[in-house]
Amino acid sequence: MTRIVYVNGRYLPYGQAAVHVEDRGFQFADAVYEVCEVKNGSLIDEKRHITRLQRSLAELMIPAPAGAWTIGHIMRQCIARNRVRNGVVYLQVTRGEAARDFSFPGADVAPTLVCLARSNNPGKTEALAAAGIAVKTMPESRWARCDIKTVMLLPACLAKEAAKASGAREAWFVDADGNVTEGASSNAWIVTKAGALVTRPLGPELLPGVTRATLLDLLARENLSLQERPFSVAEAKDAREAFNTSASATVMPVVMIDETSVGDGKPGPLTLRLRSSFHQVAAVSGR
Ligand code: PMP
Repeated sequence: MTRIVYVNGRYLPYGQAAVHVEDRGFQFADAVYEVCEVKNGSLIDEKRHITRLQRSLAELMIPAPAGAWTIGHIMRQCIARNRVRNGVVYLQVTRGEAARDFSFPGADVAPTLVCLARSNNPGKTEALAAAGIAVKTMPESRWARCDIKTVMLLPACLAKEAAKASGAREAWFVDADGNVTEGASSNAWIVTKAGALVTRPLGPELLPGVTRATLLDLLARENLSLQERPFSVAEAKDAREAFNTSASATVMPVVMIDETSVGDGKPGPLTLRLRSSFHQVAAVSGR
């Protein structure tokens, strides 16, 4: 039997169903989902699942793709069209497809709604339940591995959106000790009043930026004073200069942190010098 999946208003055979490559669910994990049990052909706890879905959507400011009745109808259609008696219905709503940009797209971008129903083998679950299962404990780490460049960028999107709402271009994340970890899509740097460059040492709380690494080479080459250590928001606000590094913007001067101007409120001279020298050290690959 051909399995059918619902995508944005259409019930399609699996082989023909597709979501755009620039869908924000794929690019940023900017999406929410629900899984409902199907037992004897009926949905279990439908109302609670839809209520939680609506809450998740509202929390992320993703417009509801349809009302509760319609979503329930789509789930039932997927169950019927796939002749599922026992199994699950999976429903995902993303913020929709838009050119890749951390900021939320405009109101004209409709959310993506995908729904699929899948049978399971109740005998298998029953056998497992009869024996019981083992669990293994581990430290909570969801998500404490910012050193891995994953597409799980929803927190970064939310941070950038909040930064934008306050007139800023980038967000700087601050840890429990009041120290800056990194930007939402860049590494953070300051230049102290004494002229030392400061950036946080590598660790699980920041991405090992390629631009950061190349800049370190440049600093070594130019014998500039470097301190790889955490710095606080207060120290950054009091710094002579500040900047971010990333492949998309290389060395980007930071002139304002929250409501405080950095230095004289203009891109710093050392920052601009590093920006203009960056490509002298960066590796260039053939065309
Ligand atoms: N931190 C984060 C969280 C980023 O997303 C990025 C940019 N991808 C960076 C730092 C900078 O890394 P790179 O210099 O490799 O672009």
